[in-house]
Amino acid sequence: LLKVTEFISANDLAALLDVSVNQIISTCMSLGMFVSINQRLDAEAITIIADEFGYDVEFTKSIEDEIVEEVEDDPEDLIERAPIVTIMGHVDHGKTSLLDYIRTSKVTADEAGGITQHIGAYDVMTKTGHKIAFLDTPGHEAFTAMRARGAKITDVAIIVIAADDSIMPQTKEAINHAQVAGVPMIFAINKIDKPNANPNKIKEELANMNLLIEEWGGKYQSQELSAKTGEGVDDLLEKVLLEAEVLELKANPDKNAVGTVIEASLDKGRGYVTTIMVQSGTLKIGDITLAGKHYGRVKAMFDHKGKKLKTAGPSTPVQLLGLSGAPQAGDIIKVYDTEREAREIANSREQIQREQSLRTKKHITLDEIGRRL
Ligand code: GDP
Ligand code: MG
Repeated sequence: LLKVTEFISANDLAALLDVSVNQIISTCMSLGMFVSINQRLDAEAITIIADEFGYDVEFTKSIEDEIVEEVEDDPEDLIERAPIVTIMGHVDHGKTSLLDYIRTSKVTADEAGGITQHIGAYDVMTKTGHKIAFLDTPGHEAFTAMRARGAKITDVAIIVIAADDSIMPQTKEAINHAQVAGVPMIFAINKIDKPNANPNKIKEELANMNLLIEEWGGKYQSQELSAKTGEGVDDLLEKVLLEAEVLELKANPDKNAVGTVIEASLDKGRGYVTTIMVQSGTLKIGDITLAGKHYGRVKAMFDHKGKKLKTAGPSTPVQLLGLSGAPQAGDIIKVYDTEREAREIANSREQIQREQSLRTKKHITLDEIGRRL
């Protein structure tokens, strides 16, 4: 019998089963599951894998589960919220260019003189007056974190495909991530300004994968565009809003905030800076927050333009100051009523982590993986 918490990584599961992580990976492959070393596994996957190695599984509830459990909102308290979008696709197909185009064309238009700095998430106002939040983080990370914590930090996925290229391995991976997570996709067929662009070829390749676009009678939205000239970008944003409308995204703004950590770092002078996406409730200056093992009062909040904020409601990305350390991307951040409560949970997480690292001491290095493959 194997006692294990859900969402353990493939690597840690290997250590618990006393097998190599490669055995886990190849077992998964033979079962038709594609798993990477640090990928966290859900209950179903863990059960199947353990069974292959002759174990029955008993899931122990982690303190994390108890913390993440949310009280159901009264439907009357729910209001519409902006969609949170992740852009994914093959390397060099134009993800960064598209994000940059959207950010700079939208940001500088409504606020001249604002400081533009890198932040892992931002939001824009479309020409039609609707907000859209973007995660500027490698798509697969967002999706892994999302699956690991069961927290949904992406509502819509934009899959960027270069029209002068083809559907590539990372394109397929991105599509797979979105499908597994049940997140609707919009195909952004990019680089149409290039003389050798062939959007029809991309559409055909999609059709061959059973992904028929609306224009061809299917159900998937697509948009031809150029992240360089900006052609088609506004239309893409409208399609995101259309998708969001169907999803009827809602959240309760009148409660303690819950969100997800996007990234965190130590800034000389300012201390720990944590970028989060608020998902429900409203975060306020002075709130006692806890993310991972780190807690503290919110001292200041900024948007991606560096503008100070006093509050941040659902679907708002903010940078906040005040945590005692840098939590990990994907950690849930929550507000507590007392500092004592936050500290106690932080301490018990610290302890759990120590115990787990003792159990799974056999950490594998990249070099070892290379030798085993
Ligand atoms: P990423 O790896 O997906 O983030 O791709 P990048 O945004 O870094 O783009 C890769 C290269 O393609 C860069 O040299 C971009 O300037 C170029 N690029 C991206 N979008 C377009 C486009 O719409 N048209 C043209 N002509 N070049 C583009
Ligand atoms: Mg890039």
